[in-house]
Amino acid sequence: MSDKYDVIVIGAGPGGYVAAIKAAQLGLKTACVESWVDKQGKNRLGGTCLNVGCIPSKALLEISHKYEEASHGFADQGIVAKDVSIDIARMMERKTGIVDQLTGGIAGLFKANGVTSIFGHGKLLANRQVEVTDKDGKKKVYEADNVILATGSKPIEIPPAPMTEGYITDSEGALEFDEVPKRVGIIGAGVIGLELGSVWQRLGSEVTILEALDTFLPAVDQQVAKDALKQFKKQGLNIVLGGRVTGAEVKRKLVYVNYEDSKGKQELKVDKLIVAVGRRPYTDGLLAEDSGVQLDERGFIFVDDQCKTEAPGVWAVGDVVRGPMLAHKASEEGVMVAERIAGHKPQVNYDCIPNVIYTNPEVAWVGKTEEELKSEGVACKTGFFPFAANGRAMAANNTAGLVKIIADEKTDRILGFHVTGPQASEIVAQGVIAMEFGSSAEDLALTCFAHPTLSESVHEAALAVDDGAIHKANRRKKN
Ligand code: FAD
Ligand code: AMP
Repeated sequence: MSDKYDVIVIGAGPGGYVAAIKAAQLGLKTACVESWVDKQGKNRLGGTCLNVGCIPSKALLEISHKYEEASHGFADQGIVAKDVSIDIARMMERKTGIVDQLTGGIAGLFKANGVTSIFGHGKLLANRQVEVTDKDGKKKVYEADNVILATGSKPIEIPPAPMTEGYITDSEGALEFDEVPKRVGIIGAGVIGLELGSVWQRLGSEVTILEALDTFLPAVDQQVAKDALKQFKKQGLNIVLGGRVTGAEVKRKLVYVNYEDSKGKQELKVDKLIVAVGRRPYTDGLLAEDSGVQLDERGFIFVDDQCKTEAPGVWAVGDVVRGPMLAHKASEEGVMVAERIAGHKPQVNYDCIPNVIYTNPEVAWVGKTEEELKSEGVACKTGFFPFAANGRAMAANNTAGLVKIIADEKTDRILGFHVTGPQASEIVAQGVIAMEFGSSAEDLALTCFAHPTLSESVHEAALAVDDGAIHKANRRKKN
């Protein structure tokens, strides 16, 4: 087979592998270059998401949630669960099994769709040539009409807390502890810090999360964020806001973490410290000097709304470009680019990308927050409904949280849809669909929802936008 392709994708995470499959489905001769090698020396597809991100973290969140419930949450429902214990080795085996199945599945999908897998480190040269260096250092150059860069991101490291084997780790290491640490410290109360903190807290660790900012989850609607924070604190997660870490040192098998808060200098002693301060775009060794691709000031590959780079025929998608670092955002961009290469004209709707934090309660949202809209001077109205007044949530013994809908004051068009509570990750899809179709709050209010369901809270929140909720008192009388 010739080494010239219609499309070469570099990176087989959710941005890259989806782009490759879609391109092949559209009849383009496609190859995907991937450098991931696991600890056993095996090549791996699936990127961060499948190997050390979304999937393994969700496996641990699901298992730890069940353990937590069986240990503490069953008794008041009349279920007697005695001597509940956790087998960490078995839990990790299950997580690895799921990862193996899914990463293997990508290999199967490549085969079924006719995508050629090339293992090695890809480097973009001038004129859409891609040099691949394999595990043994052997180089080979391939050519393509189009190249899609999908090299993802890596955890940010901070000088005050350098990675230290066995003690100070990033999110990847925190998915692999072989026993439950007595005390866990986490730097950063973002999505990853909260999810990993929840896992180890549920399994029995004392967890302290140090967050430099004074505001909890500033990107989240603050009514929702405050509600979720109350629940996290109730569960025993110690979240220190306004706590900036200034140093961390391993002494006598413990990590001494120094931080400063409003009261001054503080010290925290933990068995493991997880650094979860965000991720950086990964372009190490990716671009030859004359590749023609530009980076922006924060190191992301510079692209336009259609994910075109400055170099003709070179595209970039996913975590390595601007926008939220989310697997589904990466995949949406991958599909858009493959379609555009094939001559079609789809466009990702960046206003309708859902975000989820898979804690308990889950936090999920799409669109703008009330704070954002107010700062933009957009007149809006809001309606919310608490799960505490939802029959299904009561039956499920899970009544924390609420659904909040924000609509334009004049047009009633939904501008933001925010949920914290049971199955928020699933419920938010209703907001995404509504917003994608330009729905008004009234459209949702006029829709029939099955009873009893958690989704009835969506219905009630939509009714509440115009003070018409049935199952709670409305804020003011209608004129
Ligand atoms: P990646 O998945 O990072 O894939 C990039 C691939 O490119 C990698 O396989 C890498 O080996 C390869 N590569 C890099 N450079 C080269 C090169 N030069 N040559 C060849 N190959 C190369 N997102 C969600 O949407 N939901 C979640 O629940 C979620 N949970 C997460 C939990 C954790 C702990 C973490 C760390 C992340 C989580 N994310 C989640 C984020 C999600 O994993 C990323 O947004 C997603 O993986 C980005 O996809 P991508 O294809 O852009 O990059
Ligand atoms: P995210 O980018 O959503 O994963 O969140 C990372 C969080 O880490 C942000 O909220 C940052 O404010 C926080 N952070 C970054 N550096 C520090 C630090 N030195 N000490 C405490 N928190 C930090």
